[in-house]
Amino acid sequence: VVNGGKGGGRDNVLVCVRVRPPAAKLTSAAPQGVDELAWQVDERSGKLQQHAGGPEYTFDSIVTASRNEAVYAEAGQDLVLAAMEGFDAVIFAYGQTASGKTYVLSGNEANPGIIPQAVSDIFSYIRDHPEKEFLLRASYLEIYNETLKDLLDPTAGPVKVRQDEQKRFFVHPLREEVVTTEAQVAALLRRGAENRHVGQTDFNERSSRSHSVFQMTIESRDDPSFAPAGSVFTSPPSTPRRPGAIQTPNTPRLAPGTDGVVRMSRLSLIDLAGSEQATSQMERRSEGAFINKSLLTLEKVIASLTSEAKQKPHVPYRDSKLTQILQPSLSGDARVAVIATMNPSPAAIEETKSTLKFAQRVK
Ligand code: ADP
Ligand code: MG
Repeated sequence: VVNGGKGGGRDNVLVCVRVRPPAAKLTSAAPQGVDELAWQVDERSGKLQQHAGGPEYTFDSIVTASRNEAVYAEAGQDLVLAAMEGFDAVIFAYGQTASGKTYVLSGNEANPGIIPQAVSDIFSYIRDHPEKEFLLRASYLEIYNETLKDLLDPTAGPVKVRQDEQKRFFVHPLREEVVTTEAQVAALLRRGAENRHVGQTDFNERSSRSHSVFQMTIESRDDPSFAPAGSVFTSPPSTPRRPGAIQTPNTPRLAPGTDGVVRMSRLSLIDLAGSEQATSQMERRSEGAFINKSLLTLEKVIASLTSEAKQKPHVPYRDSKLTQILQPSLSGDARVAVIATMNPSPAAIEETKSTLKFAQRVK
C-alpha cells in the first residue's frame, strides 16, 4: 500500500471562510435594517475586518456567494482529487450553531453542498480513469459526548476506537458499505441523517453538540486487463487474511494491481459541533466539557501540522475521539481544509471573532 507522496507544512492546510447571509436576508420576518453587517469583507485579498482600523484577519479564501459550488471550488475539489490519487484528505466545517456548517457540507437539493459535490466528482474521476480499478467504501459516524454512534448501524453494540498493529486508531465495529454508484451514496447519507434523528427529542440541541463524520475509503490499482475499463467493484475481491485478524478500515481489500501496488486513501467530511461550546464559560467550568476539549484538541492537532518549528510539538491525538479517528489521516501527509462558517450579523460578533481566531491559529 502506498500513499500519494510526501507532504506536510503550511500549504497542506487550507482555511476558507464562508460568510452566510445575515438573518434579515434569510427570513422575511426579521425586521429589516437592524441586521447591518458587522464585517468588511474583501474577498479578493481574503481579508476580513470588523471595522476600519480594527484587527484584520487573513485567510486563503473568503466566500460570500450563496452557491456552495463556490466553496467547493476553493476548499473541496482539489482535496477530493488528491484523495482519488492516494492522499488522505479531511474537510471540516467549523463555526457556531446556525452559522451554516450543515448548509455548506450537505446543502439541499437546489444548492448541493461539499459532500454531494465530492461524491459526484469521485464517480466522474472513476469514469475518467478507465486504466484504474476502484473499490469504494463509505461509513458515517456521530460523536456525542465522546461516545460513538454508527449512523449506518445504530443498533450495533458499543462502538469503540481501537488501535491496529501499527498503532493507528480505527473504529470497531464500524459498518463500511461498499458503494458503486452516486445514488447509493446519496441513499446511505439520507439513511445516516435519519438515524441521527431517531430517538432525539431534542435533535437541534444534540446536533449542535455532536460531530458527524462521513468517510469514504478509496482503493485503486492499475490493472487494465483485469476487468472492463473503469469498473467499480461490487464486492471486495477476497484476499487472504490472517485467520482471526480484524479487518480494519486501514486494511486494503483490493489485491495489488499489475504494478504490485494498491493505493488506499480516505476522504473525511466533518460537520463539527457548534463552536460556541468551546468558548462558553459555563461549558469550560462544567465537568463534562467534552466538546470544548475535542475542539481544542482538534485545534492543537491541526496547528501541529502547519508548525514550522524544528522540534515537532507533541500531537495530542489521544485526547479526543475525533482526533483519534482522524489520526491515521492527520499523522500522514493529509490535505486538510477548514471551512470556517460565520454569521456576519452584529449579534454574533463575539462568536464570529472566536471562529476567526480558531481559523487563524490552525494555519
Ligand atoms: P449549522 O449547521 O452551523 O448549525 P445551518 O447550516 O443549519 O447551521 O444553517 C442555519 C440556517 O441558515 C439554515 O436555515 C440554513 O439554511 C441557513 N443558511 C446557512 N448558511 C447559508 C447560506 N450560505 N446561504 C443561505 N442560507 C444559509
Ligand atoms: Mg448543523
